[in-house]
Amino acid sequence: MSATADVIVVGAGVLGAAAAYRIARAGHRVRVFDRSAPGREGSGTTAGNLHVQAVHTRRPGQAVPLDSARFLPLQRAASDLWAGLEEELETSVELRRGGGFTVAETPGQCRELHDKHRWEADAGIKTEVLDGDAARAALPLLGPTVAAASWCELDGYANPLKVTPAYLAAAIRYGAEVTPFAPVRGITRDAGIWRVTAGAHTVEAPVVIDVAGPWLGEVAALAGIRLRMTPVAIQMHATVRVPPVMSHLVQHIGEGLSVKQVTAGNVLIGGGWPARTLDLAGRSATSTASLLGNVALAVRILPFLTRLRLLRAWAGPLAATPDEMPLIGEVPGAPGFLVAGGTYAFTFGPLWGETLRRLAEGAPPPVDISDLGPERLLT
Ligand SMILES: Cc1cc2nc3c(=O)[nH]c(=O)nc-3n(C[C@H](O)[C@H](O)[C@H](O)COP(=O)(O)OP(=O)(O)OC[C@H]3O[C@@H](n4cnc5c(N)ncnc54)[C@H](O)[C@@H]3O)c2cc1C
Repeated sequence: MSATADVIVVGAGVLGAAAAYRIARAGHRVRVFDRSAPGREGSGTTAGNLHVQAVHTRRPGQAVPLDSARFLPLQRAASDLWAGLEEELETSVELRRGGGFTVAETPGQCRELHDKHRWEADAGIKTEVLDGDAARAALPLLGPTVAAASWCELDGYANPLKVTPAYLAAAIRYGAEVTPFAPVRGITRDAGIWRVTAGAHTVEAPVVIDVAGPWLGEVAALAGIRLRMTPVAIQMHATVRVPPVMSHLVQHIGEGLSVKQVTAGNVLIGGGWPARTLDLAGRSATSTASLLGNVALAVRILPFLTRLRLLRAWAGPLAATPDEMPLIGEVPGAPGFLVAGGTYAFTFGPLWGETLRRLAEGAPPPVDISDLGPERLLT
């Protein structure tokens, strides 16, 4: 016999966990399945940056630039939700809003900083553009090639190894049932009800949320829905632990770079550099060329990094879309089948969690997502 629920969530990364929490808190019966341990894929390998000022438009090697102006109202809404998250989840996720600098080195990049500053103002995000000397006065660790930098006091970080577990624990407190190591292998629909099979479990519900990250397309295909997703793997680098040396996030407007020091003392260096392989059946492998490129860039912008030993590198999978924009909404022709994913889903976690709750209830979303739905990716 099948069990029943109000909502079935497929995937326990940050999006599945945030959605499960919001939906269970609203009084609905939620069932969550993950094929392996929760929070281990994109949400466990992520850099954990909270991007509030505009992000750079291309990862190294990324063919299609994202529309960073379109991201800004979403980043603004997500930032507001992050502000109250630790209180809401009743635990620390090492949330730090130390602010961030996005640096520019060339005249073209300096112009881009001024363009993005205008878009940020339009979205209600306060940023300031500094020339190179003013930026170095504010953050003396910046190197001599920095010609300008924009400052946003809301940029930050949260420990990804704490965020997804904290959301899941809160969801469970509100009655959600979470089943790890139960890959969803069948999704059918009969008389308006979805039936989901995961390992030995079969559950029926009027709403299914596919937040399977890089496997989102595979899970949708189980329900006969063909979505064009373009998953990739990118990598991160961490130095050994050192005493506190920097409290800001540092990014680059034109190249793949994000650097910050985390609570444990390690300095994390990333910026979307491609891994050597994307392996959705196992673990993606890191690329030496990306390691060298990423670290060389980091050292150019923050020369003090030459003094730190590199501890490790890792790769993680990312549910990119062909247009590099977020994906969220109900699949046309499949009532109650909701999807959410795409890049920067860590920053958007609290926002997409709340958006999925509203969509599951048939209520209007908290932000305009009319251009972010799955219809653009249906084949
Ligand atoms: C190296 C790296 C750095 C990043 N840096 C940042 C950053 O600084 N800031 C930012 O905002 N974003 C960043 N991102 C992106 C962001 O972290 C991810 O987009 C986000 O964590 C994805 O969350 P998710 O819940 O959609 O997917 P995931 O975390 O990938 O979770 C999907 C889950 O679905 C499960 N699943 C798959 N198939 C099935 C199935 N058949 N049945 C059941 N479960 C299934 C998986 O096991 C997995 O747990 C980064 C990503 C990477 C990889």
